[in-house]
Amino acid sequence: AKHSGRSTFSWYTADMDVDAQKRKEIEADLVKALKFDQFDILYQPQYSLIDNKLKAYEALIRWEHPSKGTISPDNFIPVAEDCGLIEAIGDWVLVHACKEAASWEDTSLCVAVNVSADQFIPGVTEQKVAEALRLSKLAPERLEIEITENILIANTKAVVETLKNIRSMGVSIAMDDFGTGYSSLSYLSRFPFDKIKIDHSFIKNLGKSTYTDAIVTSIVGIGRSLDVLITAEGVENAEQVTLLRAAGCNLVQGFLLGRPASVKSHETLRARQAQD
Ligand code: C2E
Ligand code: CA
Ligand code: CA
Ligand code: CA
Repeated sequence: AKHSGRSTFSWYTADMDVDAQKRKEIEADLVKALKFDQFDILYQPQYSLIDNKLKAYEALIRWEHPSKGTISPDNFIPVAEDCGLIEAIGDWVLVHACKEAASWEDTSLCVAVNVSADQFIPGVTEQKVAEALRLSKLAPERLEIEITENILIANTKAVVETLKNIRSMGVSIAMDDFGTGYSSLSYLSRFPFDKIKIDHSFIKNLGKSTYTDAIVTSIVGIGRSLDVLITAEGVENAEQVTLLRAAGCNLVQGFLLGRPASVKSHETLRARQAQD
């Protein structure tokens, strides 16, 4: 089973052979989680390498299970995707993240929301986005949708149409986990998006492998030529920041800059750091 390295109760992982009975239990628990409001959203900061300012927060869901404690998304999103509950959970995240962002004092801050392939439904997803904006009164320019390359596998034309519809509202699209999946240059040129997030597996080996350094530099180059911003995720140390800055990367996100937490706790931490 996958080791999360966090103090979460790992009661399901995708590579575990879960029997039908156990699955039903998890599904039933997820239904209850929705009904009894057991989900929570933590926010992880994204900083610009240009002016070193906080630009956005990524919304990351947590499940506060009444008996099992905090469960991280890797341990329940795959189940939710398989049993069809991801849509309802995704709707919840979208609306709540937009409402939270609309309440932030700093109205220049953006919020990034993950939308997995199974919840990305052409013709529907753009309506969900519009509805979340309407309910929250969040300015569309402050919302970013993070998608992964695997949404591009099926129904290409309809997916492109939906991405265009979302962008035409003023919402931006980020390509998450870039480099891990299906990416090819021809795909990149065909899909309308605003940002590439370099997967943390590359950032991890930055400065340790000339191969990785070359890949990261190339991705930044691709971003330049396609006129999209580049975010590095999983940034854990200052050396990585130095290398990313030198490579021309635009934004950084990772434990070095801040762990997923409540926005209030991030603000408290920043206020304290500003005093020192
Ligand atoms: P992701 O979108 O790639 O999110 C980044 C993950 O990397 C987060 O894990 C975050 O806590 C972790 N991370 C951030 N900085 C660092 C770092 O410096 N080092 C390391 N080792 N890890 C770092 P998290 O919150 O457990 O989320 C896991 C995945 O679950 C996310 O990966 C995303 O694919 C999915 N997920 C999270 N929230 C949602 C959601 O609301 N909807 C959907 N559909 N998926 C979600
Ligand atoms: Ca993400
Ligand atoms: Ca990612
Ligand atoms: Ca991921």
